[in-house]
Amino acid sequence: MGTQSFDHSKAYALKLDQQDELASFKNEFHVKEDSIYLIGNSLGLLSKRAEGALTDLLESWKELGIDGWTEGDTPWFYLSEQLGGMLAPLVGAKAEEVIATGSTTVNLHQLVSTFYHPEGKKTKILADELTFPSDIFALQSQLKLKGYDPDEHLVQVKSRDGRIVDEQDIIDSMSEEIALIMLPSVMYRSGQVLDMERLTEEAHNRGITIGFDLCHSIGALPHSLSEWGADFAFWCNYKYVNAGPGSVAGIYVNEKHLGKAPGLAGWFSSDKSKQFDMDHQLTPADTAGAYQIGTPHMLSLAPLKGSLEIFAEAGIERIRKKSLQLTQYMMDLVEHDLKDYGFNIGNPIEDHRRGGHVYLEHPEAARICKALKMNKVIPDFRNPNGIRLTPTALYNSFEDVWNAIQILKKIMDDEQYKQFENKRGVVA
Ligand SMILES: *Cc1c(COP(=O)(O)O)cnc(C)c1O
Repeated sequence: MGTQSFDHSKAYALKLDQQDELASFKNEFHVKEDSIYLIGNSLGLLSKRAEGALTDLLESWKELGIDGWTEGDTPWFYLSEQLGGMLAPLVGAKAEEVIATGSTTVNLHQLVSTFYHPEGKKTKILADELTFPSDIFALQSQLKLKGYDPDEHLVQVKSRDGRIVDEQDIIDSMSEEIALIMLPSVMYRSGQVLDMERLTEEAHNRGITIGFDLCHSIGALPHSLSEWGADFAFWCNYKYVNAGPGSVAGIYVNEKHLGKAPGLAGWFSSDKSKQFDMDHQLTPADTAGAYQIGTPHMLSLAPLKGSLEIFAEAGIERIRKKSLQLTQYMMDLVEHDLKDYGFNIGNPIEDHRRGGHVYLEHPEAARICKALKMNKVIPDFRNPNGIRLTPTALYNSFEDVWNAIQILKKIMDDEQYKQFENKRGVVA
């Protein structure tokens, strides 16, 4: 779709929709017909199957009471492991390397507690300066718990342009003082995909443990964590995975580490056959299940089951292919139709370095987002000047993208954004 011969007619959008193998999945979701939802990278929409899985869970509670743990179609006691197996294809891992548990930030605490062993000269943690704040706060508190000053022991690789972090700069920071590396798979603002395979190899060449935060890649692009040999990873399931606000998250631990005692233990870390022995000596599970802590949050776990059934049918490769087409189409429209309005495309444009969203920069971004929302196009504002637009493969169409860009053009032509203050809301 080069810009030279680019067809920017609505008819072309409709033609792309006709050729879309995943088009029918839109019917699986509760999509509001009068709005264009482009924020699936922040909170995915509810699918009918996720809804059904939640009502099934409530039904089993209603009918079985405590026996729901072991009886019924989906015994609760094994659901986290079962969903780990269903998540495994999304991260390119074996079933026993993955568990559905916790939340992103708690899982990061769990994994750093398990894998950060400062020793001798190797005492520092390496991250980057564009990472999501919660991850940085978790790393800082883990350092403090070990008695280290985060100002000195948390090394954050600098970005040269405020958007991307160069892999070579990360590699150059892998000094002999680094004990652990924690990086995002995809940058939450610019959508840059980091080369996880290369970074893993370089870290391991230097004897450094490395893990990834997959919040902005899980459900959007494929991973091969086992093949790359990444030590650990964690993610939330409420963004592209559509499992609902605050839904239970995920952990991957490479099989070479399975059997390693969890840094933060609880009775759900147990080998399942021993858990009810009620011993005071923990026998950890020999799977990623060992990195669970307490009783799973069943009501926040159930929707994930319905959601993952959809991913199994759609396939992550096809999802990635359509997502790349959608974002390329959006970028082409921006370049063609919004050329003279002061927008800058801030995400990497190459396929292999671009995540699931388009990141438009504009000095008036905050109030352009408000005007988009008034026009029922749902974007995502990110401080200081970013508009994230996420056409999601499972429920957005090429027509959605076309309509959204025409609405944005009209907002700019009519200067509709000027009726709003250029300031973010409390939640943005
Ligand atoms: C969404 C997101 C989080 C959120 O963490 P929670 O514990 O689920 O609130 C953390 N890190 C990154 C990179 C994110 O994108």
